[in-house]
Amino acid sequence: MNLETIDKEYVLHSYGRNYTNFVKGDGAKLYSSDGKEYIDFGSGIGVCSVGHGNKRLADAVCLQAKNLIHVSNLWVIEPQALLAKRIVELSGYDMRLFFGNSGAEANEGALKIARKYGQTNFENKRYKVITLEHSFHGRTITTVKATGQDKMHTPNFSPYPDGFMHVKNIDEIYKNIDDKTVAVMIELVQGEGGVQPFPKDEIKDLAKFLKSQGLLLIVDEVQTGVYRSGEFLASNYYGIEPDIITLAKGLGGGLPIGAVMTNLKDIFSPGDHGSTFGGNYLSTRAALEVLDILEQEYKAKDIDKKIAIFDTHLERIASSLPRYFEYSVGLGLMRGLRCKSAQIQSQIIQKAFEHGLIVLKAGRNTVRFLPPLTISKEEIEEGFKRLEMALMGL
Ligand SMILES: *Cc1c(COP(=O)(O)O)cnc(C)c1O
Repeated sequence: MNLETIDKEYVLHSYGRNYTNFVKGDGAKLYSSDGKEYIDFGSGIGVCSVGHGNKRLADAVCLQAKNLIHVSNLWVIEPQALLAKRIVELSGYDMRLFFGNSGAEANEGALKIARKYGQTNFENKRYKVITLEHSFHGRTITTVKATGQDKMHTPNFSPYPDGFMHVKNIDEIYKNIDDKTVAVMIELVQGEGGVQPFPKDEIKDLAKFLKSQGLLLIVDEVQTGVYRSGEFLASNYYGIEPDIITLAKGLGGGLPIGAVMTNLKDIFSPGDHGSTFGGNYLSTRAALEVLDILEQEYKAKDIDKKIAIFDTHLERIASSLPRYFEYSVGLGLMRGLRCKSAQIQSQIIQKAFEHGLIVLKAGRNTVRFLPPLTISKEEIEEGFKRLEMALMGL
């Protein structure tokens, strides 16, 4: 049986899979079993923040794996405590963290924190969380319900938990706050929804308003966090201080890890929350190494330089091909080209792949770019060369 047959026979069919089999990675390059080379402008959906086959990350993980991988949260875990301290220091926020294994799990933690705050701080027991249209918050039943895309609320998985309200835009948030609302949960740049950043002033006003009402601002930084925006957190870039922030994708460089951080430092008591695997030796040691690598890149202004190169290429492509593109969107190394149609979007993604370039889909009509943050200038140039070849062949 070949790999495709085995996969189709034994793995549940929840993904529309491409059967290219990648067998090696090196920086922003991937190699498939048939020997073809690809430039990876997707980094496993924003996960491989330090690239593929990163020697520093591999050595750190290897050394840790040979000693201790897991002991459980019944005992103190040194790299977990050090990672929490590190993230707090890099963020500049006075917070504490809880570690899980994914973005959805981090968001579940955020929602539990918001609910407990609502139950314990308001006589009328507030519990409602407002989220935005086109948002994405995860695939568990609760985070699917939090996600503001009706197509995801299929009756197949009903009933969903109560307490969520979706609104069209930030203005509508103000109009829909009622005496049961406890929190607003947003992405500062909607990733899956189309790489759409919100205006800084609107976000700052919202943060200020919520604070004045004693309501919580939850920022889902599962995709925008860990230098993806060009700053450690997109919240830093926006100049706000949320009450709760969630992280995951890029934090472990490919090892599964998620985190929720909050300024409600005493919200949880023992027994309120937990996770068997969350924050174990292996994933937190990996994340510490990832942060070392990325902080160095950030301090050397390497990330800024790469952002500038992406800016130039995307602006040029968007403006020179008005028959395919509306404009370029996004910020930092989280970018998109808004296409004239969904059909053009899927043709570009497919053609690029044929030319040895991986780019991603976002929303209905956006081609998304989430390169490794350690990508080299040569890899960026080669990637755009391949993109232009693909566009010429459309
Ligand atoms: C990917 C993503 C999630 C879900 O993360 P998982 O690790 O797949 O559970 C949640 N929120 C945002 C903004 C994301 O981009």
